[in-house]
Amino acid sequence: MTSLTPVVLSGRIAFAISVVSSLIFFFFIPQSSLMSYLLTSGFFVFVFLFSFFLLKFSIERFVQEKLSVIYETIHQLKRNPISTEKKSFKANDPISKVNEEVLDWHLDNQKEINRLTEMEQYRREFIGNVSHELKTPVFNIQGYLLTLLEGGLEDESINRKYLERAEKSVEKLIKLLNELDMIIRLDTGEIQLNIQRIDLIELVKEVIESIELKAEKKHIKISILRKNMEPLWIMADEDKITQIITNLLINSIKYGSEKGKTEISFDDMKKQILVKIKDNGVGIKDKEISRVFDRFYRTDAAREHDQKGFGLGLSIVKHIVEAHGQTIHVNSVKHEGSTFSFTLKKAGKR
Ligand code: ADP
Repeated sequence: MTSLTPVVLSGRIAFAISVVSSLIFFFFIPQSSLMSYLLTSGFFVFVFLFSFFLLKFSIERFVQEKLSVIYETIHQLKRNPISTEKKSFKANDPISKVNEEVLDWHLDNQKEINRLTEMEQYRREFIGNVSHELKTPVFNIQGYLLTLLEGGLEDESINRKYLERAEKSVEKLIKLLNELDMIIRLDTGEIQLNIQRIDLIELVKEVIESIELKAEKKHIKISILRKNMEPLWIMADEDKITQIITNLLINSIKYGSEKGKTEISFDDMKKQILVKIKDNGVGIKDKEISRVFDRFYRTDAAREHDQKGFGLGLSIVKHIVEAHGQTIHVNSVKHEGSTFSFTLKKAGKR
């Protein structure tokens, strides 16, 4: 089959026009045999050539005009690939539709490229942060071991102290590796939640008991604000919720004031319980609030007060809350304190 070029198309249409018009012409001229045939043939050739060139010129012009819009679009997209704004075209002919398709294709590509660029940047930052956090404990361990090997081992006044310090750094490394492992498993969806009916009040009391010593060291009073201590049933993964509450309570101590207080309260919503953990500690600056759930983010205050941590705790907390289909939020005023609130699904009556 011949492809449909403007020449072929014009030829076909011109032929059809010439046949029809010649037949009409033939019936309207006096039927004097040879002369009428000659006249009709001449008329046919004239109409054919005239309509052929007229059609060819018009079709080529039309296609050219429409194609130049597409070329223009591609040219602009090449020059300004970031632009994701969509121009509106009246898509009432096939060529304008092609133009629109080009734009849509470009927008989809641009979105994909942006997503990949973000992922690449995130991956680079993540690796950079991990190696940065690994450096300190590893170099510390190396320093202690070298001192011990270079004679410190025989020196009764430092050998035990240096071994204990090396062991502290190993502990720090293990903590970092555990947190990274948790983040990666939460990211890849590897962690399965074991959703059960659990008593939130009992769970919170157990967490408070487990961190009491830490709180006492800073003379911080942790209390549950509730009229009665009757069970509050929720549907959640017990270990994960324990981890969330432990992280938030430990933070309220780490970033709490000496002789301060941490209060835990529960608001009964229709289908959820809103858990609030409020401290009167250092608080968070407005401009830093939106970033505290980011991985490896530590506020200026945390760095100033030399609080140990990798900035991974809150990001794990947020991941777990979201894996439960719930939300977490923070309110904070610098030098006054912070309140972390998150929802949990209420269990139905048994
Ligand atoms: P880290 O291990 O550094 O404590 P987190 O992810 O738990 O990491 O917290 C991230 C940052 O958020 C902390 O470094 C600290 O700056 C800030 N932050 C967390 N909890 C509190 C709080 N209760 N009060 C003030 N700042 C907080």
